[in-house]
Amino acid sequence: MTDCIFCKIINGDFNTEFVHENEYAVVFKDINPKADIHLLVVPRKHVESLNELDDEILLGKLMTTVKETTKKLGIKSYRTIINTGKEAGQEVFHLHIHILSGKMNF
Ligand code: AMP
Ligand code: ZN
Repeated sequence: MTDCIFCKIINGDFNTEFVHENEYAVVFKDINPKADIHLLVVPRKHVESLNELDDEILLGKLMTTVKETTKKLGIKSYRTIINTGKEAGQEVFHLHIHILSGKMNF
């Protein structure tokens, strides 16, 4: 989607560093970290939220991407969050999984 900030990041428009990437997803640092380590796992495919995701394989690949990333970075203990819908705090309507580790500030 042309006006989606995460699609632009995936497209390389902002030269964002990907801490990990694979065929299905990219992972980058949250611009406004709510923990010592705060990463976002973002599918390459534009899907608005978990409610619009009807691809079980992609869902599995995203969780596998969480595991790949934490293993690669040596993060042993972490929290994963998916905000779905405005009332639940979703601000960017391109599905993403937060990875939070260390001291959390929320
Ligand atoms: P959510 O509230 O679950 O939709 O989370 C959106 C997250 O994206 C927030 O934690 C923001 O800080 C983060 N964010 C927004 N724009 C950017 C950006 N350009 N680069 C990295 N993270 C971003
Ligand atoms: Zn998008």
